[in-house]
Amino acid sequence: MTETEQLDCLALYDRSFVDQLAEATGSKRLEAIGISTLQINVGRLCNQACHHCHVDASPRRTEIMGPEIVARCIDLIENLDEIRTVDLTGGAPEMNPHFRELVTASVRAGKHVIDRCNLTIAEEPGYEWLLDFLAEHRVEVVSSLPHYSAARTDGQRGRGVFEKSISVLKQLNARGYGSDLPLNLVYNPSGLFLSGSQSELERDFREHLSQNYGIVFNSLYCINNMPINRFLDALVRKNKFQQYMETLANAFNPATIEGLMCRNQISVSWDGYLFDCDFNQMLGMPAEIRHIADFDARAFRERRIATANHCYGCTAGAGSSCGGELAG
Ligand code: SF4
Ligand code: SF4
Repeated sequence: MTETEQLDCLALYDRSFVDQLAEATGSKRLEAIGISTLQINVGRLCNQACHHCHVDASPRRTEIMGPEIVARCIDLIENLDEIRTVDLTGGAPEMNPHFRELVTASVRAGKHVIDRCNLTIAEEPGYEWLLDFLAEHRVEVVSSLPHYSAARTDGQRGRGVFEKSISVLKQLNARGYGSDLPLNLVYNPSGLFLSGSQSELERDFREHLSQNYGIVFNSLYCINNMPINRFLDALVRKNKFQQYMETLANAFNPATIEGLMCRNQISVSWDGYLFDCDFNQMLGMPAEIRHIADFDARAFRERRIATANHCYGCTAGAGSSCGGELAG
């Protein structure tokens, strides 16, 4: 589906996120509160093509951030003190030829850097440098691992992904990740349901990964499947769209509003457009300031956030963000 078709489809759901927001908060507007994170989507190229991917990434995608936009991002990183975290995502962010430049510039500017790493990229030829580089720059690694069972992980991400992921997790542990360096895993449900309790799932993951593979990690983040891109396509194809939206909307939790990631970040696309979050980026719903070339910190801090019915995905249950639960 195109971005417009996705937005039209989301609007077909018979309840409205904005109305539910107004009921809970007294306002139809979601306001920003700061800019502590710069999330950079460096491109849609990925070595995998997972079923649930909200970015629609794959080895065939050609969109990738070039040197001009990278330089503008580095300018923001160096000159906007309130940015404390630089969060690199994709696709597989490491496949962008400027990945190392972005990391070193961010570290030099004193920022905390996150690499949203799919793990398997480290097993691809040409990426032998990756794990040492990440450890040397003390980059936080956030890795998707849909489940501690091979069948569930491979079912969602492709055959052989679990085995490679386990191998890379062991290599990360050997470099101090999970103890001295931060290693966080991301779980998302494999069906039309919300994640279970983050603390219970974390305990299960810890037990299984430690007992069966000797792997340690810091935290598990539970993220709801967002009704956009491939997952939305699948919902529509299977005639499950209304059912899933109902699950999300029935679980609307006002306590998640305060911590929504869109309220405290800038999301930059590979071509320099600005968004309130990566999900809005995938739906082509721009922020009020549209391009990094026109960036103005004061105006961005005071902007109104663009919302639609996919926002039910972030506010359902204990909430969902790039850092997991919002109101556990
Ligand atoms: S590894 Fe991540 S970015 Fe790549 S296809 Fe899978 S979900 Fe998408
Ligand atoms: S999808 Fe989530 S993070 Fe993005 S604007 Fe909606 S509530 Fe905020």
